[in-house]
Amino acid sequence: MNCSDRMQKQYESLGICKEVYEFGRRTEEKLKERFAIFDQTAEWNQMKVISAMQKNRVSAECFGSTSGYGYNDLGRDTLEAVYAECFRGEDALVRPQITCGTHALSLALMSNLRPGDELLSPVGKPYDTLESVIGIRPSKGSLAEYNISYRQADLLEDGSFDYDAIKKAINEKTKLVTIQRSKGYAVRPTLSVKKIGELIAFIKNIKSDVICMVDNCYGEFVEEKEPLEVGADLIVGSLIKNPGGGLAPVGGYIAGRKECVENAAYRLTSPGLGKEVGASLGIMQSFFQGLFLAPTVVNAALKGAVFAANIYEALGFDVLPNGKESRHDIIQSVTFHHPDAMTAFCKGIQAAAPVDSYVTPEPWAMPGYDSDVIMAAGAFVQGSSIELSADGPLKPPYSVYFQGGLTYPHAKFGILMSLQKLYEQNLVNKSLMC
Ligand SMILES: *Cc1c(COP(=O)(O)O)cnc(C)c1O
Repeated sequence: MNCSDRMQKQYESLGICKEVYEFGRRTEEKLKERFAIFDQTAEWNQMKVISAMQKNRVSAECFGSTSGYGYNDLGRDTLEAVYAECFRGEDALVRPQITCGTHALSLALMSNLRPGDELLSPVGKPYDTLESVIGIRPSKGSLAEYNISYRQADLLEDGSFDYDAIKKAINEKTKLVTIQRSKGYAVRPTLSVKKIGELIAFIKNIKSDVICMVDNCYGEFVEEKEPLEVGADLIVGSLIKNPGGGLAPVGGYIAGRKECVENAAYRLTSPGLGKEVGASLGIMQSFFQGLFLAPTVVNAALKGAVFAANIYEALGFDVLPNGKESRHDIIQSVTFHHPDAMTAFCKGIQAAAPVDSYVTPEPWAMPGYDSDVIMAAGAFVQGSSIELSADGPLKPPYSVYFQGGLTYPHAKFGILMSLQKLYEQNLVNKSLMC
């Protein structure tokens, strides 16, 4: 048996038939150059992380545990210096007490805005969960309740910035501008770091003292530069996405200008206490090691996303981004226009997972959604979306959002298994696979 036969048998033993395996192999063959570019980015970013760790003298003592107040927590303080260095900020707040991405964003906003100030989103509607934070959807504790107003300039039809509308929206009250890098669940392009830089330059030219914050979720390490390098004042993200590298079991970060980060620290703990307290409870090794792995984990996720895009594009489905587009986050959507195909896709992702592979995802009603939602995730960290996962609302156009993969072979296996499920149910045009 030659190598390729041996590999095919290995996949066959896991339930992938020869036709699906071969289609995958041929698709992958065409992606070599693309993958080489991702490898370069990962290499660049790996050096960036190692350099930040060396400069800040990361040592075994940093992995120790503190409890109680957490005064003089060497690991926590060093980690924050490493994040600041790595993302080119003056300072950073990286804490397990920041419970998720929404909390990190909410913290950055609530600590840097004061009553009477206005928040502006120049890139259209922000991520769903921020609607409650801002008060677009009335909620207890929202910015609106504190008399902090909100304005939005939508993107133009083609996804570009509406500079006229942005200029009109900036006024004497505008204190902070929030720019979401990833498209999230919206149908718009994800913003490149370069584009974010152009937008910030435009805004600062109109009002130089406005704080430009970037929701960096799903964007970290996808490019060689991060938004602080193109003029952002603050970047914010979740540790159970890219920068946690799959190892961080919880947490969020805020990095950027010292004054803005300090404001966030005083809000997270207490005025007067700020960054000085917050026990790390033995979690630091996972934060350091996760950040160390993050560039290659993001690389794996990117390869998985591009592999999926090319597989499903070739089979006639709408994919966003398309198979050839440049990448600025790790999210891939596939539109099936058919509920059974969408469900089959998610069942395949689940069946390929290292954890909970034997459970079958079913569409289910979820709070906050007006239709059933289907989710596939077999993750080591609950809800982690840097691990291979897929989800979407079960309604037209039946689009599934797919992201993550701690290793490329796993992401590839997940996608092949998704195709296997569609193949078995005759939900793909098999003639396109030859
Ligand atoms: C995931 C995400 C968030 C919110 O993060 P959670 O950890 O789910 O609260 C905010 N913005 C974007 C763009 C995201 O992808």
